[in-house]
Amino acid sequence: MTPVETFRGRRVALFGLGGSGLSTLSALVAGGAEVAAWDDDAKARERAVAAGFAPVDLAAADWRGFAALVLAPGVPLTHPKPHWTVDKATNAGVAVIGDIELYARERAARAPEAPLVAITGTNGKSTTTALIAHVLREAGRDVAMGGNIGVPILDLPPPALSRVHVVECSTFQIDLAPSLKPTVGALINLTPDHLDRHGTMENYAAIKERLVARSDVALVGVDDDYCRAVAERLGAAGRRVVTISAVPSPLADVWVEDRLVVARGEPERVDLRQAPALRGVHNGQNAAFAFAAARALGVSGAEIARAMASFPGLAHRMEQVGRLGRVLFVNDSKATNADAAEKALLSFNDIFWILGGKAKAGGVEPLRPHFPRVAKAYLIGAASDEFARTLEGAVAFERCGTLENAVAAAARDALASAAAEPVADRFRALVAARIAAASETGQRSGR
Ligand code: ADP
Repeated sequence: MTPVETFRGRRVALFGLGGSGLSTLSALVAGGAEVAAWDDDAKARERAVAAGFAPVDLAAADWRGFAALVLAPGVPLTHPKPHWTVDKATNAGVAVIGDIELYARERAARAPEAPLVAITGTNGKSTTTALIAHVLREAGRDVAMGGNIGVPILDLPPPALSRVHVVECSTFQIDLAPSLKPTVGALINLTPDHLDRHGTMENYAAIKERLVARSDVALVGVDDDYCRAVAERLGAAGRRVVTISAVPSPLADVWVEDRLVVARGEPERVDLRQAPALRGVHNGQNAAFAFAAARALGVSGAEIARAMASFPGLAHRMEQVGRLGRVLFVNDSKATNADAAEKALLSFNDIFWILGGKAKAGGVEPLRPHFPRVAKAYLIGAASDEFARTLEGAVAFERCGTLENAVAAAARDALASAAAEPVADRFRALVAARIAAASETGQRSGR
């Protein structure tokens, strides 16, 4: 744990007593702050009581005495409308911050030079974060990995010169961390997502840009218009920017060419054909970012290549979960928007595709060019009707109701199919879950 000592002896309001809220509460109390913590949900308050804390009703509190309101990342700061505690804080002139900001202040106070790698983007954050942490660990560094990827940042050991923090940041977390200044910041890509929580694409992109704008070294993708504009702005402002592409690009300092990660002016290349968990063009993008981050921290190209080959990959991201006869089962249930789902569709053929959940703006319409790869679709969840309308006339589909039924139906059809080397691939696409059985074409399509 990193006790938060920068608020010692001060009163702090905290709203949201889920996992990361409780961790923040413990870290503030351990550092000597006096915390008034609350949650609208009685069950969450009971958990806090069980953990030894007495909730304080913030609706009845005197807000003038608070040094800050610490908000859990799931609580709306601006959209669709500010949470009631945010209104109270604003009216009382109290700053609204999150757990990453508390960490950033601890780092500034105790060890401002402690290496900090922060990763954001619409897709690929967790993979890139885990890959950077893996590469640094394999190179013998003391690594603390957390943030949006799982372990709340304040549950990690404190910042220190000899320890690298590798932290995944969601847009919500960046929005609540005004003084976060990473050693290395990475902005992987920007496509519309979570606009219900951030209003416009411009607002969403502007929040993400802040992470790299304050980094000593900014790693910025150049494969989409929004990121390209960010890279240009930072370059024009004289910041140290390393541009990254998933494909050969004259704009990039680091790119992927024939499955090799190549850096301008560097002799060493990383051969991704030796890295089984980094299949697909999208993972080339993630690997190029990890390469640039590790290089910025002084790891050699040879060490990076060795480490990437042993990267185990993450669960639920194009994860090959097993084979049944000729059928390969793939779980890509972390693909929760069209852009992410597209990557797996591009990596296979003859896909028996399970999809469902809650549709996001545009639904699966952007995936229409890839429908010819889908042998059949299996619909579950709230979006079934909307997805059925999009698939109608283009892809055979069946409504399965539950994931269990969908898996059984997809496996049945995949096993009976005439495809040469079918693969059963389970996805949560834009939404909840999809299963696809497909013949494996990553060798051909992913390069
Ligand atoms: P995030 O943490 O941003 O949600 P993950 O690394 O968990 O990203 O990957 C989620 C899904 O997004 C994966 O299942 C994969 O299909 C897709 N994905 C991974 N990396 C990228 C990328 N660089 N660009 C687009 N999609 C990606």
